Amino acid sequence: MKKIQLTIVMLCLTTCGMQAQRSVKPAIPRDAQLEARVEQTLSKLSLDEKIGQMLELNLDIMGKYDDKKNWQLNEVMLDTIISKWKVGSILNAPGTRAATVEQWQYWIRLIQKKSMTYLGIPDIYGLDHNHGVTYTQGGTLFPQPINLGATFNTELAKTGAEITAYESRAANCPWVYNPVVDLGRDPRWPRIYESFGEDAVVNSKMVVAEIKGYQGEDPNHIDRFHVGTSTKHYFAYGAPWSGKDRTPAYVSPQMLREKYFEPFRQAALAGTLTMMVNSGSINGVPVHASYEYLTQWLKEDLQWDGMLVTDWADINNLFQRERIAKDKKDAIRMAINAGIDMSMDPYSVDFCILLKELVDEGQVSMARIDDAVRRILRVKYRLGLFETPNTGGKGYEKFGSKEFAEKALRAAEESEVLLKNEDNILPLAKGKKILLTGPNANQMRCLNGGWSYTWQGSNAEDLSAQYNTIYEALCNKYGQENVILEQGVTYKERGQYYEENKPQIEKAVSAAAGADVIIACIGENSYTETPGNLSDLWLSENQRSLVKELSKTGKPIILILNEGRPRLLADIEPLAKAVVDILIPGNYGADALANLLCGDANFSAKMPYTYPREINSLNTYDYKVSEEVGTMAGVYNYDAKVSLQWPFGYGLSYTTYEYSNLKVDKTQFSADDVLTVSVDVKNTGNRAGKEAVLLYSSDLVASIVPDNKRLRDFTKIELQPGQTKTVSFQLPAKNLAFVGADGKWILEEGDFVLKVGNQTIPVTCTQTASGDQLAPM
Ligand code: BGC
Repeated sequence: MKKIQLTIVMLCLTTCGMQAQRSVKPAIPRDAQLEARVEQTLSKLSLDEKIGQMLELNLDIMGKYDDKKNWQLNEVMLDTIISKWKVGSILNAPGTRAATVEQWQYWIRLIQKKSMTYLGIPDIYGLDHNHGVTYTQGGTLFPQPINLGATFNTELAKTGAEITAYESRAANCPWVYNPVVDLGRDPRWPRIYESFGEDAVVNSKMVVAEIKGYQGEDPNHIDRFHVGTSTKHYFAYGAPWSGKDRTPAYVSPQMLREKYFEPFRQAALAGTLTMMVNSGSINGVPVHASYEYLTQWLKEDLQWDGMLVTDWADINNLFQRERIAKDKKDAIRMAINAGIDMSMDPYSVDFCILLKELVDEGQVSMARIDDAVRRILRVKYRLGLFETPNTGGKGYEKFGSKEFAEKALRAAEESEVLLKNEDNILPLAKGKKILLTGPNANQMRCLNGGWSYTWQGSNAEDLSAQYNTIYEALCNKYGQENVILEQGVTYKERGQYYEENKPQIEKAVSAAAGADVIIACIGENSYTETPGNLSDLWLSENQRSLVKELSKTGKPIILILNEGRPRLLADIEPLAKAVVDILIPGNYGADALANLLCGDANFSAKMPYTYPREINSLNTYDYKVSEEVGTMAGVYNYDAKVSLQWPFGYGLSYTTYEYSNLKVDKTQFSADDVLTVSVDVKNTGNRAGKEAVLLYSSDLVASIVPDNKRLRDFTKIELQPGQTKTVSFQLPAKNLAFVGADGKWILEEGDFVLKVGNQTIPVTCTQTASGDQLAPM
């Protein structure tokens, strides 16, 4: 079974009581001709046909494994599902394991043939092609989204999405369950690597870039090399109170609208065709049952005309786990009336029977059914599936090509973060003898993470054998004779992701005698979702002992962190001369690392989240000013300190940059102004490099406790040694607004400070303004 379901007794809190905020501009301009076709098709459908369109089933239930362990699609079963139940969508890979392009072509073509024959409406097939074509063998796997966040380079995200779209269509799949913009603000949560990090602006800019990459420039007419997106998981999925997957989130109304909602709002405005809904609850309200969040915030306020799909079996979860519904029928009533358009109900067609009863009984209106089906048909028309139900074959020769691999390698190079480099131990000269150690030294699985050939990324080494592990990449770069592999600690590959074999630390320590330098590859094995939950954020004890014991040899240690979330390592960091966080860099991540370690490439990534130092200080960079205060007069110590290992936005390079001349064209402004902020950045070292330039603001006094600072924009530039470039940002003054105590956007009169690099400049807002129009641009 793919899913583990938790049963949780819910606290029944009311919704957050935010005032609905209306705006009238539709997210995607409608195409009149296309809309007419949608209406015409809709008008011909019976209730059964309409309801069938609203159901999505798992391919797994339509076949089984033969004696040779090959999964075979059962045509009779498929026939029944489409002709009898009129099902409009199918998802997933059999056994959640990557299939070949040929298999996808065969299965999806058959599904389309039956859908067009029996229904005259194409199926929309969906796959979790998250950081590349997860479920298609031989395609290109990119670094995970958290790495793209670390690049601060939206072009790389767009390119990755374009390639994934192309390769998905080569496999005849028109719909991907990506991008993910669940802000990674809680380091305990197992899915933070699936989004672009902790900040709303980074996630917003990346999601817009990826939607363009996946869908192309015109969401109404998506060509055969692009796919529809399902931006997910709407919303605040990444904020569970317990840190565990799919458990309740308690988020203030301000934070919800200002931070968690923002990337989804941007995705809607950029024309994401669909969104997938958060499995959990916010302040006691399961999102799948929230009319306010689904219908008001998205469909009414933003006039977003896309389609909302549930996450895995999540209507069932309204009664089985969340216990706000008494049975499945009650749950369907709640979810459909709240605004769900398509139910991902992987294993059952009950939905069709029960929803029909609800319509017959008047508990769900025909108008709601028509609205849902209209949205589903609109997506199918926008994807061109009526004219071209199948893609692939001629024109898709670049699938898995060197050209795409090169792009993934460059993205990986720009995504690995240099966090420490004492005495310039890096770049590491050729000719040195290296002891390569640690559980992540010689495995592909941990470089790719979850959603790589299989759901958990496990049991897939056979499918990634042609790519280089860190050991292989270092042998290629430094010569096999110069790399001694003694891992000391290894993962139990068939166990839970956190299980390790009995350590052999002494072997690694003895091997160190023959080495000049120790490279310790530590971190985590692959996981996603609930199986990735943890009970202790510290890096495993075995791994920390390995580093401690090795440090006694006196040989310099370089730590390579390869992990899906920041595991605490405050006790071993001081033992290392250098630290590189490669996050989860994908199939080319080890080659990228070798290029960076030896200086063939330069580091340019910066931390996409705050790396904590202490278990009880899990801060984000935009903490409230009151979380950090100095000593006040008197005998008592009321200090508050934010303690962290490495801040958000931190990252070193082999060159150095100097910031100067920060200027703003208006030091006094009001809501309608756009500030031009410029700064000079000079490469003061002797190597070429790329620098991510981050623009922050701080609101000095505000009616609710202000954030310490907020990222407002960023860009990435390339500089030759000695070269200076002037970077200029257009900052709409309204982007300095926040959501106030009454739940409305407000820009308050008063002083702000803008900051880029080490430069600051004061600016003043001269007039308070409030209202929806202040939501960021
Ligand atoms: C995950 C989603 C995924 C879906 C379909 C769910 O369990 O939460 O991210 O898209 O399964 O596989």
